Order: sequence, then structure tokens, then C-alpha cells
Amino acid sequence: MFYKSTRCGVDKISFKDAIMMGLATDGGLIVPEYVPKLSPHDLKKQDFKSIAFEIFKLYIGDIREDKIYELIDKSYSAFDDSEITPLKQFDDLYILELFHGPTYAFKDIALQFLGNLFEYILDESNQTLNVLGATSGDTGSAAIYGLKGKKNVKVFILYPKNGVSPTQELQMCDIEDENVFPIAINGTFDDCQNIIKEIFKDNAFKEKYHLGSINSINFARILAQIVYYYYAFLKVGKNVLFSVPTGNFGDIFAGYLAKLMGLPVEKLILATNENDVLYRFARFGDYSKQNVKKTLSPSMDIQLASNFERYIYYLYNQDCNKVKDLMSQLNKNGKLIFTDKLSQIQNEFSSYRVSDWMILQTIRDFYEKYNYIIDPHTACGVKAAFSEGKQVVCLATAHPAKFSEVIENALGFKIDLPEKLAKLKTKKRSFEQENSIKAIKHFIELNANV
Ligand SMILES: *Cc1c(COP(=O)(O)O)cnc(C)c1O
Repeated sequence: MFYKSTRCGVDKISFKDAIMMGLATDGGLIVPEYVPKLSPHDLKKQDFKSIAFEIFKLYIGDIREDKIYELIDKSYSAFDDSEITPLKQFDDLYILELFHGPTYAFKDIALQFLGNLFEYILDESNQTLNVLGATSGDTGSAAIYGLKGKKNVKVFILYPKNGVSPTQELQMCDIEDENVFPIAINGTFDDCQNIIKEIFKDNAFKEKYHLGSINSINFARILAQIVYYYYAFLKVGKNVLFSVPTGNFGDIFAGYLAKLMGLPVEKLILATNENDVLYRFARFGDYSKQNVKKTLSPSMDIQLASNFERYIYYLYNQDCNKVKDLMSQLNKNGKLIFTDKLSQIQNEFSSYRVSDWMILQTIRDFYEKYNYIIDPHTACGVKAAFSEGKQVVCLATAHPAKFSEVIENALGFKIDLPEKLAKLKTKKRSFEQENSIKAIKHFIELNANV
């Protein structure tokens, strides 16, 4: 299998090169040159790791099969449930718990694998990597847990000093490994992201310090997320709908790719919070940028969705010239209109927008009926699933204890923290830097692998 860019500028690169490239060098996203087929009925072993192995083999042409299995085994052994992504049933609604990894959010599923994959590729090719990222909470801790202690990799994560929860900050900082650098910035999440963007634009600096990224545009993250759609389908045993709490469109895109591969998915339900750019797209064909609102489900607070371009590529029959054209229009005008494609879009997706008020109500109603606590992101998916009114698998993207303030607000009591969260105590490694590109570049110069 080879890989290419959605914007035509990269072609015929191997899996390993695609993973190390992250974002395509022409600004597009990496996609496989064709979509391989896999019928779930052909899967003899139906445990998570075996399914992952069968799927990954189709996409990875340049790593030996025994090594692929070893990477999978290592990545999912750190999960605290033997099923890895257990499925729970509540009448017509199934909840697929994706939060049994080390940081209690679904991002662990991809980032545990990506961390091991990076380590393997670097070791084999005698290279080093310095991963640079910004976080509003979940991605940073999942990236740190994916990379801590790994050889030849250092990880620098910028976060807003007063913009993440105390638990999230401790998750990033209560760590001994010396390859980890959580950096508090006196500014907002947008400031952190801007610093990163500017540094990545400096090609000379990027090359000198072998900078890499772990954000959700890396194809390995999509690949790892395909697995649980197959897993859930096989558990339920029939054609289902999936409801996905969506931000950057990475998780739901993995479901879409599973469908293209031949998994019988009746529909994908795209659940958004009040940051509803994708809801407006799926409902009205209107993809236009608006300001970000802070909501109770912060990991879905986005302005534009970074993985959206991958879907557009398939919507226009893999026409990379068309995608290139559309993306430059989006850049210029801040919006795209897809009314001509609306019937196709609505064959594949339905969409619901869930307000903060509805999030709290859904957490309360679900607890009263089933004695089961859902987190505010999952609540968006559950509300959307109920609105659709069919048998649905809803992806549960975070453990409720990660958002204990919201749960207390909804239910009136404090939720017990899982052992690993309760044990977090001190900031062992934490760094503070000014809100400036220069300061961060200097910090990297002093601490990076070269
Ligand atoms: C990242 C995240 C999401 C959104 O996933 P995307 O792939 O960005 O759509 C939803 N819920 C939680 C808890 C997350 O951390």
C-alpha cells in the first residue's frame, strides 16, 4: 500500500514515510492510494488485537507482520479492561467504552499505537524526533502517555496556564520521564496553537530539530480508530448506526473509512456541541467558519475540523485537484457551500447539535434511567442517538471522572475518581514559558534531540 496527498502534491510514499510526514508537505492530508476491502464476516478471531492485526496488515506494506503484531500487543496491553473497548447495552442503545487507556480518553487508542510506531521507526532508521503540540487538555496527556519513556523521541506540549483542568494539568506533569516537557504558557489555547503553527512554518528550524506532530491529521491515528467500529459491529452482530461525538472529524472519519472498506454501517450520526460547523455542513451543506465557543465538552470546541478534508476527497471521488481548489477557496472565504452534494452527504450522515443545557439534561436522564454516568462529550452522542430513534452504538469518548465538575453540576454529587487519577499528586516535570515564539524556539533549542 502506498500513500498520497488529498491535494496531489505527494504521491507513492510508503506507510512509514506517511507517518513521519504527518501533514502532507503540500498542506494536504495523507490518504491511502486505494481503500482496501475487509468483510467483518471474514474475521475468524474477533478480539480487539486480532481485528487490529487484520486491518493494519492491509494498510502497512513496509513493516514485517510479526512486528506489526508486537506493536499492537504492546500498545493495547496498557488498557485496564481485557476487552480494550467493551460494549454495554441499554435497551436500544449500545455504549462503546473507548476510555480504558492510560489517560481515560479515546485518544489513547491511537496515541498508544503511534508512540510505539514512532519508537520503532526511529530506532530502525537511526533517527531522532521532537514532537511538538498544543493542547486544551485531552490530546496533550494522551500524547505524553503515548511517548513518555520512548527512545529517540522528546515531546513538547504547550498548554494554556489557566485553561486546563487541575486533573488534566497533573496528568501531564506528574511524570518522571525526562523526555517529556509540558509547557504552561501565559495565554489561551489559541496562543499555544499559533506558536506551534509559526514554528512549523520555519522549515529550516523544523528540519534542524526533526520536528514532528501528533495531532489528529496523522494517518496512523485514523488507522487505529477503524478497529473499534469492526469490533462493535461483530459484538452487536447486525447492521447498525454509530453515533460519534465529533470535533476534528478524526473519529467519525475512521468510521466512514470502515464503511468504505465494507463494514455494514447504516449511517453515521455526527453529534456536535454548540460549535456546530459540521452540523451545518451535514444538515444544510453550509461549511462556514465561526468563532469558537467554550462549552461543557471542550474537546469538541473547534472552529474548522482538521480531518474534514479527507471526507471531501472521497465526496469528490478522490479528485485531488478539486480538493486543492476547494481548500484554497475555504482559506480565502472562510466557507464552502455543498448544496449540490447534500443528498449524498445525508445518505451517509445524519447530524444533531447538542447545547450545554441538553448535555446536563442527558447526563441526568441517563443516570436516572440506567444508573450509568456518561461524560459531557458522550452525552452529545447519546442525545443525538436518541433523536435518531433507532438501534445505535454510541462511542463513549471519555471517562466521566475526567469531567467531574460537569458531572457534579448535573447530578449533584461528586464522582469517584479511578485509581490512576486519584493517585496524581505533584507536578514533577513542569515548565513555564512566556507567550512568545522566540521563547519556545529557544526552549526547544536547549532541550531537543538533535
Ligand atoms: C478529541 C475528542 C473528541 C473529538 O474527536 P475528533 O476525532 O476530534 O472528532 C470527542 N470527545 C473527546 C473526549 C475527545 O477527547
